Amino acid sequence: MKFEELPLANPLQRAVRAVGYENPTPIQEQSIPSLLEGRDLLGIAQTGTGKTAAFALPILQRLLDSGKFRQPKTCRALILLPTRELAIQVEECFKQYAQYTAISTTCIFGGVSDVKQKNCLVRGVDVLVATPGRLLDLIGQRAVTLKNVEFFVLDEADRMLDMGFIHDIRKVVGMLPGKRQNLFFSATMPKEISDLAQTILGANPARVEVAPQSTPIERIRQELYRIDKRRKGALLKELLNSHEEMKKVLVFTRTKHGADKIVRVLEKAGIKCAAIHGNKSQNRRQEALGNFKEERIRVLVATDIAARGIDVDDVTHVFNYDLPNEHETFVHRIGRTARAGKEGVAISFCAPDEEQDLRGIEKLTRVKIPEGDKSIYERLPEQQKETPESELRNARGRLPREKKGGPKRERRDDRNGVGRTAVPGKYRHAAEQSRENLQSGDAAGFSNRRTIGKNRPGSRARKRMREAAAASAAAQSSLIQSKP
Ligand code: AMP
Repeated sequence: MKFEELPLANPLQRAVRAVGYENPTPIQEQSIPSLLEGRDLLGIAQTGTGKTAAFALPILQRLLDSGKFRQPKTCRALILLPTRELAIQVEECFKQYAQYTAISTTCIFGGVSDVKQKNCLVRGVDVLVATPGRLLDLIGQRAVTLKNVEFFVLDEADRMLDMGFIHDIRKVVGMLPGKRQNLFFSATMPKEISDLAQTILGANPARVEVAPQSTPIERIRQELYRIDKRRKGALLKELLNSHEEMKKVLVFTRTKHGADKIVRVLEKAGIKCAAIHGNKSQNRRQEALGNFKEERIRVLVATDIAARGIDVDDVTHVFNYDLPNEHETFVHRIGRTARAGKEGVAISFCAPDEEQDLRGIEKLTRVKIPEGDKSIYERLPEQQKETPESELRNARGRLPREKKGGPKRERRDDRNGVGRTAVPGKYRHAAEQSRENLQSGDAAGFSNRRTIGKNRPGSRARKRMREAAAASAAAQSSLIQSKP
């Protein structure tokens, strides 16, 4: 099938040609006709299948056909997405497909000032792409209402649920007008998700299910390195240094701190890289992503949530620095490479405590991952012995608080009747000295907090203390000498 065969208006056909699409992907072929008829749709598909165009093109067509106009502080199509990156990406697609029409689009998401976003909504907008939190925030501020929504798309529903957006979604759905066309997309369809879909979709939705565009497992060359977790950084560095063909590398970690740590290690080795995760500001994330897309940096380190749905072409290598607990995530991760018929390599690091995850992944994908070049281990530093304590340390080398044993700081100890006050390290020596003096009954007046606090080097209190200590030492030595 060709795009020309689909009943899309000329401006949309032109835009499709301008972005270089020739034939619709399977999800587009299956969804576009039913959506143009006005049916609700349940789509089981993930990013990379062409699902954005599958819903954007028919929505744009129906917006053009309806003959209605946007009103101030309203939108006609609402697309909800879980992350800012996805929202920006989907709005970019809408913009491209609507470039030869007068349809307006805007995107709202948290983590940045809402002033510009509110300004964009003042005159109303045709297509509003939003993350749930910021949308509810702006509805609360009366910057936008949902009373005119004709099309509602809930994308990446399973991620929405994972990220705890279920209540927000229910709130949004409660504000939508009864008469609307609904589209619901999710990569997976566990019971919770299908229950949610039932509450949103009408009685007889069209159902479309597509496998990822290329089944990654067969097309991706995989390698496995069994490595203790302390040397993963060194292994990554070594692999990057010894393989120039690793040009556009995506590294996945489980934690945000882990991602930052990798960036520090690679930067030290002179490898250009950046991290994206939930603790980074929106601008930093966009900048990192832009630099990666344009190949100004070689490595992008990402957590799963931050990377979900990010569309970057020509990723040459994907590293699973940590194996994901959710085995399906592994498939999403490595599917970032070997796109559009290109070559791709996925390299997984497996620490001893990740063996179980590895078995789960191999069982799910029905692929036994072959071990990589073993000679590389010889170029790594010696393995350090793990102790039970080091096993507990987090990515920053810190112990969990309750495992440290005992309270954080000694607060009070009334042994010998001396008030013992916690003192900052800088003054500890003077305080200890003062305490010893008091215990030996020589000098009085250094025990209270005020004295200790003022007991700075060079202070009069310190001078008096030194004198008292000297006097006490002299007295003791004379006592020893006078002993028979
Ligand atoms: P999506 O699943 O919507 O994130 O799309 C994944 C990628 O496929 C994007 O880079 C789209 O531009 C591209 N794409 C979508 N539809 C087509 C098509 N019919 N032909 C070629 N590329 C497409």
